[in-house]
Amino acid sequence: MTSPTPFDVAAKRLRDDAVARLLPAESVPLDQALGRVLAAAVVAPISVPGFANTAMDGYALRTQGRGARVGQSFRCIDLALAGAAGQAIDDAAVCVEIATGAVLPDHADAVVQYELTTRTGDCVTLQADVVSGSNVRGAEDDYARGQLALPAGRIIDAGAIGVLAGFGVGDVLVRRRPRIAVVVTGSELQPAGAALARGQIHDSNSSTLRALLGSVAESLQMIGPLADDRDLLADTLRDTARTHDVLVTTGGASAGRADFIPGLVGELGEISLWKVAMRPGMPFLYGRIGTCAVYGLPGNPVSVFASMLSLVLPALHAMQGRNPVGTQYASLAIAARKSHGRLEWRRGVLASLPDGRRVIRPHPAQGSGMLRGVAESNALFRLDAEVRALGAGQIVEVLPFSV
Ligand code: AMP
Ligand code: MG
Repeated sequence: MTSPTPFDVAAKRLRDDAVARLLPAESVPLDQALGRVLAAAVVAPISVPGFANTAMDGYALRTQGRGARVGQSFRCIDLALAGAAGQAIDDAAVCVEIATGAVLPDHADAVVQYELTTRTGDCVTLQADVVSGSNVRGAEDDYARGQLALPAGRIIDAGAIGVLAGFGVGDVLVRRRPRIAVVVTGSELQPAGAALARGQIHDSNSSTLRALLGSVAESLQMIGPLADDRDLLADTLRDTARTHDVLVTTGGASAGRADFIPGLVGELGEISLWKVAMRPGMPFLYGRIGTCAVYGLPGNPVSVFASMLSLVLPALHAMQGRNPVGTQYASLAIAARKSHGRLEWRRGVLASLPDGRRVIRPHPAQGSGMLRGVAESNALFRLDAEVRALGAGQIVEVLPFSV
């Protein structure tokens, strides 16, 4: 009997291996880059903004660094709308009416918003003091040309998309996502719509895995549910491993008579680790067939969920060069006890309190077959191997379902 690998050792092995399997870079149009990982740092190709401009609608003044006083009047000589440069202000007694985003006229050093002025004909009078520099957005205020804007390994979210678009970037260099095959096994499994004979259940892992993997995969081939038939599984594993970067299996990963996955991965490829000292998900297997990484998950739906979140998804992110996300913590809302010596990932509801604390409330349904505990929770929390009891208020690591 192989002794289970400690969770942190397994997680590190999976991650290190995934880093060594770094997927190649490819160029994609910015509009298709959401959720992808930057393959190279982005240096600002232009300054943003490229010119000094105004943050307010109003009047541009030349105060020569001294500001202007309430009651002071100016003759308005021009109108500067966004997209065009107005006339230069050569004389401190004149002003230029200006729209947000318009180029600041030469020599202007402050903008007063309409609300703080009155106007009669060409004559604009200040209703308040104006400080030099007010409402002026300097050139390069946001990004200076040549400055590091986004690091490699950063996920392209809506914020990054906006920055790249502001640079005028049309295509972006990202990591290819893994081509993933999912093989769901278990003779008792029936697809949706099928009538269930006694002893049969609906296959839920296929749908869970499709949901968890959809945004991480370049292509996702769903296979099964397949019967626990050694020859059928051997053919399927051999064939899919040839054409995919990653193979995820569920079911048949333990030591039961119909559990063929460990034997087959050992025969067709190589097992790197089998059994992780964690709960749920202990029969977890990691290995390879050819160059294809194989993650063998147990069949229990909650084990699938916990091992995907804690082990497989971080590895799939690492394959794309994504920088690790920081560990998150919360305090326990109520005490937690555990009677075994394995690390446990439990389900809970993570919430933030008005005082800024984050608290996790364990869900009452913690069985590894109870998907209700997953559906009614939004995070996993970690009880370390040696922990037997933690009081309310103790700090635990949390893994939110959406990262
Ligand atoms: P196994 O890991 O094959 O021993 O399966 C462990 C438990 O998970 C058994 O109760 C199975 O019936 C159940 N199970 C396996 N695969 C699935 C699946 N795809 N959907 C729902 N339950 C499953
Ligand atoms: Mg089974």
